[in-house]
Amino acid sequence: MIAETIKDIKSTLPNGVQLIAVSKFHPAEAVMEAYDAGQRLFGENKVQEMTAKYEALPKDIKWHFIGHLQTNKVKYIAPYVAMIHSIDSLHLLTEVNRQAEKAGRVIDVLLQIHIAHEETKFGMTFDECRGMLTEGSWKQLTNVRICGLMGMGTYTDDMTQVEQEFASLQAFLEELKGNWFKGEAAFKELSMGMTEDFPIAIKHGSTFIRIGTKIFGERNYNK
Ligand SMILES: *Cc1c(COP(=O)(O)O)cnc(C)c1O
Repeated sequence: MIAETIKDIKSTLPNGVQLIAVSKFHPAEAVMEAYDAGQRLFGENKVQEMTAKYEALPKDIKWHFIGHLQTNKVKYIAPYVAMIHSIDSLHLLTEVNRQAEKAGRVIDVLLQIHIAHEETKFGMTFDECRGMLTEGSWKQLTNVRICGLMGMGTYTDDMTQVEQEFASLQAFLEELKGNWFKGEAAFKELSMGMTEDFPIAIKHGSTFIRIGTKIFGERNYNK
């Protein structure tokens, strides 16, 4: 089932869109099933769980951190994480840079933008992000590479609303490309779209879709 779903999803993806299989709350065996089907990008939202899986599983897996990240835990993932999607402050970006330097790496990151009309989701507002970029000290952080933006749509059946949110993030990426990231070829990624809304996200320029439930089934939060 896992293998088939991955092949089905991949067969529909346009060029330039990559699938991140979100394996949080699912065991290493489920990850291996996806791995054996050729999947190499996996997403996790807890430091401890991701690190345990990293240690147990094949080393050519690219681990994408997609959850809220506390600064005191950055050190555990800095040696191996492929990309951090959830940078929501200069403070966190600075700590990722510090730990990346210690690990002798340059870490790819995305800035998480709050696009949902809900209070529970993390991320910067458009204006907070503009403010951080204008302030300018991020340019000194040479052990992180800002590759684009991440956002989550509102959890709702109203797909018109979700579509507006994705469109707003796509427009914001273009705004940033034309200002602070002029000539920076690496700044091009848009991480948006989950099980319920990924086709809409792709329509609006997503380059990373993050799919959990559709691949691995429902998560059991009581385990
Ligand atoms: C859990 C999670 C996903 C996957 O959600 P599904 O609806 O199961 O596809 C995607 N992105 C983030 C940030 C998540 O926390």
